[in-house]
Amino acid sequence: MIDISKQTVKIDCPECKRSIPVTLKQIADEVKVRCSCGQEIQLKDKNGTNKKALRDVNKSLKDLDDAIKKLGRL
Ligand SMILES: [Zn+2]
Repeated sequence: MIDISKQTVKIDCPECKRSIPVTLKQIADEVKVRCSCGQEIQLKDKNGTNKKALRDVNKSLKDLDDAIKKLGRL
């Protein structure tokens, strides 16, 4: 069983455009994260971040699925 709340996705810092890894749980909880440049980012579900997150998670799950399939061929 995969716990997707522990999946991390990357968001872009509005200040320095650096990618910051956050967990889906952090997005769901709408916590503030701090970039290494010092910029605080308030995570929000409603601005589409979570949609993007879920897309990324789906991709991650697909990658994992592909990896498992590859293992099965060994
Ligand atoms: Zn930054």
